[in-house]
Amino acid sequence: SEEMLIQTEKLSIAGELAAGMAHEIRNPLTALKGFVQLMSYDHDSQSKYLDVMASELSRIELIVSELLVLAKPQANVFKRKEISPIIQDVLTLSEAQAILHNIQIQALLEDDLPALDCDENQMKQVLINFIRNAIEAMPGGGTIRVEATLADPSHMRIRVQDEGKGIPQEQLARLGEPFYTTKTKGTGLGLMVSKKIIEGHQGTLEIASEVGVGTTVDLYLPLPDGD
Ligand code: ADP
Ligand code: MG
Repeated sequence: SEEMLIQTEKLSIAGELAAGMAHEIRNPLTALKGFVQLMSYDHDSQSKYLDVMASELSRIELIVSELLVLAKPQANVFKRKEISPIIQDVLTLSEAQAILHNIQIQALLEDDLPALDCDENQMKQVLINFIRNAIEAMPGGGTIRVEATLADPSHMRIRVQDEGKGIPQEQLARLGEPFYTTKTKGTGLGLMVSKKIIEGHQGTLEIASEVGVGTTVDLYLPLPDGD
C-alpha cells in the first residue's frame, strides 16, 4: 500500500543518515584517538596536538548539532511572526563573519510584509545556512543581497543572492543530499536540514546558479489564511 511505501522510504532515509553520520564522525574520532595515544607515549607533545584535537572536536560538535534539528519531535512551535526582525537578527549574527571575509550584506526588506506562521528559531537556522554558504562561496569578498518580498498574494519570497563561485549544473541536482559537500571542511548538512525545515513550513526552495557569476537561493513561504 501507499503507507507501506512511505514507511520504507522513511526507514531508508534514516539508515542513510545514520550511515553517513557514523562515517563522518568516525574520521575525527579516529584522529582524536591517535592523538591521545601519541600523547600518552610522549608527554612533551601535548601542547602541539591540543589545537588540532580541539578542531576535530568542534567538527563532531558541528555535525551533531546540525543533525539534532532533525531528531527533534516534529511538534514545531509555529507562531505568527514578522519576518523583518527575524532577518535583521540573522544579519546581526552574520556580520562578524561577513566583515572578516570582506563581504557586505545588503538587506532589501519590503515594508508592510504580512506576518508568517513559522518556527522562528528554525527560520533563523535556514537563513544562517544560506548566508554561511554565500560567504563561503566568495573567498575574494563581495556583496550578498538579502530580500524579502511578496511573491504573490499567498506567498512571501526570501532571497539570498551572492556573487560567489556558483554551482555547476551537474552539482545542482545533488544539493540537499545528506553529507553532499564540495568543501574540505563542509558537513553537507546545511541544505538538507534547511530543506526539511522548509518542508515543515509547507514552503519551497529554488536554487539558481551560474558558475563564476553567483547563486540565488529563493525560499517561498505560504502566508497564513486570512483569519
Ligand atoms: P556545506 O556548506 O557543509 O558544504 P551545504 O548543505 O550547506 O553543506 O551545501 C552543500 C553544497 O552546496 C556546498 O558544498 C556547495 O558545493 C553548494 N552550495 C551551497 N550554497 C552555495 C552557494 N551559495 N554558492 C556556491 N555553492 C553553494
Ligand atoms: Mg553550508
